[in-house]
Amino acid sequence: MLDLKKLLDGCVPSVEFSIQTEELDYIEDVVSGFAKASGVITNHSGLVLLKGEIIPELVVSCARCGKEFNYSEKIALEAKITDKLANKDEDEFVLLTDFALDIDELVRSTLILEMPSRFLCREDCKGLCSKCGCDLNEGKCNCDLKERDPRWDVLKDYFND
Ligand SMILES: [Zn+2]
Ligand SMILES: [Zn+2]
Repeated sequence: MLDLKKLLDGCVPSVEFSIQTEELDYIEDVVSGFAKASGVITNHSGLVLLKGEIIPELVVSCARCGKEFNYSEKIALEAKITDKLANKDEDEFVLLTDFALDIDELVRSTLILEMPSRFLCREDCKGLCSKCGCDLNEGKCNCDLKERDPRWDVLKDYFND
């Protein structure tokens, strides 16, 4: 929790923060690791804005070949903050409780929203052979992957009639 009372009272113009998350293994395909988030919250005569970034330090597994690799794509962290929602859109603002900001929750929800739904070890990862399981990035196997689905033969017979 970040205490923003002084910021809202106007005693200080800005508050800096820097946190480290817990293990992020609750995110799909994340093997291990956490993220660091840092930034500054500024009071622009009543409009309280948070600007920062999240840097993941993760080991993730490729959605196609299963290989584990390091992932550290930066994510922008931005929020508008208010201590009362009167006439404000609650989707747009992060609401404070007793002048405190739940920064961990903000980082967590941003991560869940902004992290890719799957990770690829490289853009053109060829994945694994569906028959023998060999890594097709490392060479071709001898499997005949063009083997037809027998259901198509039924259709073929139908059209040949
Ligand atoms: Zn891969
Ligand atoms: Zn194969």
